[in-house]
Amino acid sequence: MPTVHPTVHPSVQATGLTRYFRSGDDTVTAVEDVSLTVGRGEIAAVIGPSGSGKSTLLQLLAGLDRPDAGTVAVGGVDLGGLRDRALTRLRREKIGFIFQDFQLLPRMTARQNITLPVRLAGGTVDDAEVDELAGTLGVAHRLDHRPGELSGGQQQRVAVARALLGRPDVVFADEPTGALDSATAADLVDLFIWAAGTRQQSFVIVTHDERVAARADSVHRMTDGHLTAAPRSRH
Ligand code: ADP
Ligand code: MG
Repeated sequence: MPTVHPTVHPSVQATGLTRYFRSGDDTVTAVEDVSLTVGRGEIAAVIGPSGSGKSTLLQLLAGLDRPDAGTVAVGGVDLGGLRDRALTRLRREKIGFIFQDFQLLPRMTARQNITLPVRLAGGTVDDAEVDELAGTLGVAHRLDHRPGELSGGQQQRVAVARALLGRPDVVFADEPTGALDSATAADLVDLFIWAAGTRQQSFVIVTHDERVAARADSVHRMTDGHLTAAPRSRH
């Protein structure tokens, strides 16, 4: 019998993504005709100036926002074909998101924040993995504290742990090293590279940090809503 190879879809495939925002008589084109493919286990970096549309693109790719035109598929599933509930379920099962402003829930402890997506998805929390992730990220001793009792850098690392805990296929990260010193930022990129290599997780990382971009598999530059391949030197 011939061996049957299951089709391996790219983790993320976006085509012709466009997103407008209207304010009064003005229309801002935040993202225009953006196409991007990220394979399994790949790390893509998106760089570009403030206001160029990076966060909007990330939200479209992660199904947190819907495009005015174009398509996004995650693991071969067309997000545009999903109703809100199915989209929410897919996001919980397959996608991790690290927000630029962390978006931790203030009344929950760090541990409760980290485990919330897995609990919402109806999964079983692996406490050993929570402790291991928190240890790797250097926040193990802060797990019983609420976000307001943590430094910005600690909050950011709690947000990273939350995004990684359920081992999502794709992690979208919006400036995930913005609140970190350079040594901690380098450790975080090590963690992403390890997760990409050993778990075949994919990452799309918006970053201002050249040292983060230099370690990605591909680098893309956002300029006025348009995405182009950025020349780069590898590692
Ligand atoms: P970046 O992350 O690169 O700084 P953004 O994606 O946040 O850029 O913003 C791109 C453009 O879209 C900016 O002009 C911004 O003002 C506009 N924009 C983003 N989100 C909204 C929104 N919810 N409503 C109106 N305009 C928005
Ligand atoms: Mg942004």
